[in-house]
Amino acid sequence: MSHLPDPWVSTGTLPGRDVVEAALDDAYERFRDLDEGTVIEDVPALAGAEPDLFGVVFTDTAGAEHARGDVHHRFSIQSISKAFVYALVCQEIGHDAVLERVGVDNTGVPFDSVLAIEHGEGHPMNPMVNAGALATTGLVPGDTDDARWDFLVHGLSRFAGRALDVDEEVYRSESRTSRHNEGLASLLASHGRLHGDPGAVVDLYTRQCALRVDAHDLAVMGATLANGGVNPSTGERVVEAGMARDALSVVASTGMYERSGEWLFEVGVPAKSGISGGIVMMSPGKGAVAAFSPRLDDAGNSVRGRRAGALLSRALGLDLFASRPAGTRS
Ligand code: GLU
Repeated sequence: MSHLPDPWVSTGTLPGRDVVEAALDDAYERFRDLDEGTVIEDVPALAGAEPDLFGVVFTDTAGAEHARGDVHHRFSIQSISKAFVYALVCQEIGHDAVLERVGVDNTGVPFDSVLAIEHGEGHPMNPMVNAGALATTGLVPGDTDDARWDFLVHGLSRFAGRALDVDEEVYRSESRTSRHNEGLASLLASHGRLHGDPGAVVDLYTRQCALRVDAHDLAVMGATLANGGVNPSTGERVVEAGMARDALSVVASTGMYERSGEWLFEVGVPAKSGISGGIVMMSPGKGAVAAFSPRLDDAGNSVRGRRAGALLSRALGLDLFASRPAGTRS
């Protein structure tokens, strides 16, 4: 009889290396030819992404990495930055202040919705939708735009364990198409819910979204949140354990756009995706799966990434909600 834990169970330890390697092979081979979904068209600099790129990687909280495919292809982090900026801002201003100013509730409407602000009487609702992400980025400390940018780029780089840089083409392209985010920021400001100048906050947010990462980086970043805020590759503490926990709880309820409830129900792991095709899913105490593949479903989640993530959640026992009666462990 195996001494390994039942893969369905979230508590306990990960399966052994052979099981993890076999699961990665399975996730990669099974979905590498899946061609459902479409590459984002709204942002010209992202529309040209090679649709067949696919990489998937699992990094555990001891820093061991298991990777398949295009895990070193770089892409802009986009919405995934929201999770990490949120953790950094929580660290700076505290749990209660962020809860009061940004909120944590699911809006039930798309990520860039104006209605969510109006329904919430001016409150941005949660930090994974754009209104809340803009409010969160507005709370980044610093006296000047440069100081605030330094805080963000250094903070996200510490999560990744290497110096991240901006994809200037994506930044310029999104700056030209950021009217909607400018509208959200102005609306928040009109409700007294945005700290800072709306134009400057949108610019900072647009740059944060254009930071370049690869799937390997995302897995290290996710594994840092899953490892009580300590980067398992560098050993550096990036945020306190409580802030890592807060970020994961918000990601769990809202990280997969308007499919967040369905994702949590089916897969049971906090995950954040972005429109360039990245996705990172984090299982506290165990590690993070990251995937990159640019074809998206209609909610904006990478199709191959979503499918590979769901498979790995089961195979590696990452599901937070699965349990087994005491005394039945083999
Ligand atoms: N920069 C994009 C925006 O805010 C990010 C979108 C995303 O990845 O969800 O509109």
